[in-house]
Amino acid sequence: MNQSLWNQVLDRFREFGSDPGALERDGILDLLSGAELQAGAEGHVLLVGSTFIQRLVQNRYSQDLVTALREVTHNPEALLEVQVNAASLPKRKRRPKSSTQGEAPVSVRTSGSLPLHSEVLPVWNHHLNARYTFDNYVVGVCNQFAHAAAVAIANNPSKAYNPFYVFGNVGLGKTHLVNAVGNMMAQQFPDLKILYITTESFLNEMVSSIKFAKMNEFRERYRKIDVLIMDDIQFLSGKERTQEEFFYTFNALYENGKQIVLSSDCMPNDIPTLEGRLKSRFGWGLIADIQIPDFETKVEILKEKMLQERINLPTDVVYFLANTVKSNIRELEGAMIRLGAYGTLMSKPITIEIARKLLSDLMPTSRDTVSVDRILQEVAEYYKVLPKEIRSKKRHKTLVTARHIAVYLIRDLTQKSYPEIGRELGGRDHSTAIYSFKLIEERLESDPEISADIGFLKKKLEQSE
Ligand code: ADP
Ligand code: MG
Repeated sequence: MNQSLWNQVLDRFREFGSDPGALERDGILDLLSGAELQAGAEGHVLLVGSTFIQRLVQNRYSQDLVTALREVTHNPEALLEVQVNAASLPKRKRRPKSSTQGEAPVSVRTSGSLPLHSEVLPVWNHHLNARYTFDNYVVGVCNQFAHAAAVAIANNPSKAYNPFYVFGNVGLGKTHLVNAVGNMMAQQFPDLKILYITTESFLNEMVSSIKFAKMNEFRERYRKIDVLIMDDIQFLSGKERTQEEFFYTFNALYENGKQIVLSSDCMPNDIPTLEGRLKSRFGWGLIADIQIPDFETKVEILKEKMLQERINLPTDVVYFLANTVKSNIRELEGAMIRLGAYGTLMSKPITIEIARKLLSDLMPTSRDTVSVDRILQEVAEYYKVLPKEIRSKKRHKTLVTARHIAVYLIRDLTQKSYPEIGRELGGRDHSTAIYSFKLIEERLESDPEISADIGFLKKKLEQSE
């Protein structure tokens, strides 16, 4: 236990934390003041009082908390895993499915950290998230095909489609779906060695294996797997060495008839700087996409999540949520949890008026005809980069231009303030946003290419609304 470290992290988090209004609304500082921080061999574990707080942290604050932890510990690679303090967990939350895996009752990993409770690790740890199953995966037009394929694969590993490649925008349920595949397989075929891993962790493991001259062990470990589930494969982009290693792993598994399941935020061909031979291999089996859910599906998902979280919102508020949060289920869930937290903390029923007030940051104001997400999507597409790269710290030329243009368009087409724009673009300073805006404004007069780009993008954004 390390309470003074935790207090330092909290202080830091409070100082730069997200918008203070949101901290207040969620009551997050109060909720976290009782948490315990424990240091493990591979990272820190934060024990919180309920699944509810855990989810709130996961949905809204994990990034800021990890950043605070990294600053306080002066360790840029520090990891934070948020767990529910077993002592404070009500019995009903112990899900039978997860207990068979011998894992801590509920464990949500942030930053791809590994489970730290080595004393309870089963012989084979598949690292699947037991909370993500087909039982609680809502099927709608948006994901029907991907879901059907996923079920087929879970029933016939290596025989249905190999590899299975599922793609869709952030927050649309890819991680949930691929974990559901793994969980169902694990149940039906307990002897299979299944491994779920994020591409980021794969990369980190590889780097440390190289560093400690353990590449042979690394290769061997991956080659004895029966089912490899690799999440967010788009992060292979730009990592030549990892791509090469993955290529050999892929071939070894594929040739031995092992199942490979991949998720990504785009089609293989749209992953920038992905080797051609990998692109083509990713298409050998089945590619399925997940689209933005329609209103009814969103309502169903909310109902499912309310049941899980024991949150009870009136139907009109549920409809209001489904209408307000357009295109990201994680955000939809986050909004629901925020309303739930408010209701619990204030012992007040949630009305549409309260919801409107609490979620004002998610709603377009009357002058906004287009969302920041849409703008980033269009700009990214136009410059053949990814929205998250625009938000990242990367600085190659095309990205820098795309970023300036995005700032200009957000400022022009929405009512966002410069600090808000800075935050939307991956936590940049407001002065950076002002600089970008001015730069493009000036160039518009002197540079016909820029003004054509802006003209095209604005037209496209305005048409689509
Ligand atoms: P992605 O990996 O595509 O970014 P996730 O799988 O992490 O998205 O999903 C974000 C959240 O939305 C998760 O909590 C997940 O359970 C939930 N979710 C997404 N799609 C569905 C669905 N069809 N039914 C139930 N929950 C869903
Ligand atoms: Mg994911």
